[in-house]
Amino acid sequence: MNDTTTTPQTEQHTFQAEVQQLLHLMVHSLYSNREIFLRELISNAADACDKLRFQAISDDALLADDSELHIRVELDKDNNTITISDNGIGMSRDEVIENIGTIARSGTRQFLKNLEQKDVDQSQLIGQFGVGFYSSFIVAEQVTLETRRADQQADQATRWVSAGAGEYTLEAIEREQRGTSVVIKLKEDAEEFAQDYRTRSIIQRYSGHISFPVQMLHTPAKQEDSDTEPSPEWQAINDTTALWTKPKQELSNEDYQGFYQSLTNDHKPALSWTHNKVEGKQSYTSLLYVPEQAPFDMAYNRDERTGLKLYVQRVFIMDAAEQLLPRYLRFMRGVVDSSDLPLNVSREILQENELLNKIKSAVVKRSLDMLKKIGKDQEKYLKFWEQFGIVLKEGIVEDFGNRDAVADLLRFPSSKTENGELTSLHEYLERMPEEQEHIWYVTAENPKTAASSPHLEWFREQGIEVLLMGDRIDEWVMGHWHEYAGKSFKSIAKGELNKDEKPEISEDDQKLIDRLQELLKDKVQEVRATNRLTASAACLVVDEHAMAMHMQMMLQQAGQDIPASLPHLEVNLEHGLVKRIAETADEQFDDLGQLLFEQAVLSEGGQLENPAEFVQRINRLIA
Ligand code: ADP
Repeated sequence: MNDTTTTPQTEQHTFQAEVQQLLHLMVHSLYSNREIFLRELISNAADACDKLRFQAISDDALLADDSELHIRVELDKDNNTITISDNGIGMSRDEVIENIGTIARSGTRQFLKNLEQKDVDQSQLIGQFGVGFYSSFIVAEQVTLETRRADQQADQATRWVSAGAGEYTLEAIEREQRGTSVVIKLKEDAEEFAQDYRTRSIIQRYSGHISFPVQMLHTPAKQEDSDTEPSPEWQAINDTTALWTKPKQELSNEDYQGFYQSLTNDHKPALSWTHNKVEGKQSYTSLLYVPEQAPFDMAYNRDERTGLKLYVQRVFIMDAAEQLLPRYLRFMRGVVDSSDLPLNVSREILQENELLNKIKSAVVKRSLDMLKKIGKDQEKYLKFWEQFGIVLKEGIVEDFGNRDAVADLLRFPSSKTENGELTSLHEYLERMPEEQEHIWYVTAENPKTAASSPHLEWFREQGIEVLLMGDRIDEWVMGHWHEYAGKSFKSIAKGELNKDEKPEISEDDQKLIDRLQELLKDKVQEVRATNRLTASAACLVVDEHAMAMHMQMMLQQAGQDIPASLPHLEVNLEHGLVKRIAETADEQFDDLGQLLFEQAVLSEGGQLENPAEFVQRINRLIA
């Protein structure tokens, strides 16, 4: 850059080890998506403008005489460079070291971790994480970043230079304008990015909705009556009117999808959206999207809360997903623009702001409404459910006020549907005979185990429908949820079934039960005759309000100290194995009795305390 002078000190620094790793992986694996570097750098530049605009609300001296915030992309074909600059907030020397020399973002770490797994689709990862500044090295032989913080003097600027090979240099420079320029010296095979038409179309595709002008140089046609060659001028190539401020009827699906893309960097289109303007005592606009695909570990990462941007009068304030969305809707994306919140809101103010709470409850309602609408299109809804159902379920526990609305949105496999088709609770109720009192369900560690639970035998025989809940979270949800539309939920694996119709027990049966009871007294509360089984020999049953066995085992394995509650062992007196046990002498009785218990554990999807012993037992019996 020509407006800087070099001071003699140039300091050499080494990248953090992780940065080196990231650079290496990125350059080698993102080759077929090279153009994303432009999106990343423009998005950084726009963030820098956002930050300055926000800070200037309380300190307008920061803008000085340069109040038109913009981003410029300049190409130099002769030298094979592309320069992305902004007149945003800029960075101090320390900030450069901190932001550009290390990986501070948790998102990048996550990206790195996922990138190391060989079987993931890398182009998909880019969409989900955004790879930031370092992506410039996919196309760069060398990157030179020059920056000056908006509140610092011209002689306090910094130049950072690196070839991406493990080291960078830092140098104090003078820089007349605030903000940041990134000069990329393109690799030989990346010359295409110095071509005007190529770069222009990439920017329009990826950054078309950036709310600051992205300018490129344009040479106007020569006027006929003029002798002088016209000189090139800066011209914005994007549409900076905030899309959500436009009337719905002026917006096409492509407009909405394009905006979604630039908002999220998602490489897949949105599944659906809802755009609403509220005017009156308080005015705000919301544009909410449901993505088509969930980010990697959304189900388990309950703390990852980004994706809903808060604007006040079109000024970007902050990502306020945490303030505007409950956890169970953390997959939603979009913007909320309020006309009434003060421009200088802080996170603290937002926490207990009345106005914001109202907006939040409206955002929740709109989101649930949108999902309900998607629900009318089965195929589309299944797409949604596969990705986000497990997260939405948390809402049953988390959002008591909207529990019914959330409940209507849930889907479950059922013992009565074919090919694992899902059912809603509403459909379950429609199918169920009038005299049936409960909505029956079973929870298990996974869908397969739920579907093959021995507890289902009696219900299948009776033709009673059972919901097959095979998500880990189900047991937790059902622990908090007791009824739907006036019908109570009941687990088929808990408590006594048909108390009034106890199976008849002979004296011999009772003897057998007592012997088993004595043998298994450390493992079960009680051995009793069952009326739930037709094909299996035995099953485990927990008390009416106890935690399901698979959940108890899971928590124990995770090292949690949970109150020990032993299950009941219910045995099927009609079963061949049980009859055989009854006739067996002492020595083999122990093995067979233990086996009966172990079978029951296994068919719950449980793990045996001592698998080796189990194997020895079987071998003894076979021999
Ligand atoms: P991200 O932008 O996702 O945080 P990056 O690696 O792209 O990750 O950038 C790291 C940090 O460097 C940014 O968070 C920001 O603080 C700083 N930064 C990058 N580019 C600019 C810029 N043009 N102006 C000011 N700060 C910047």
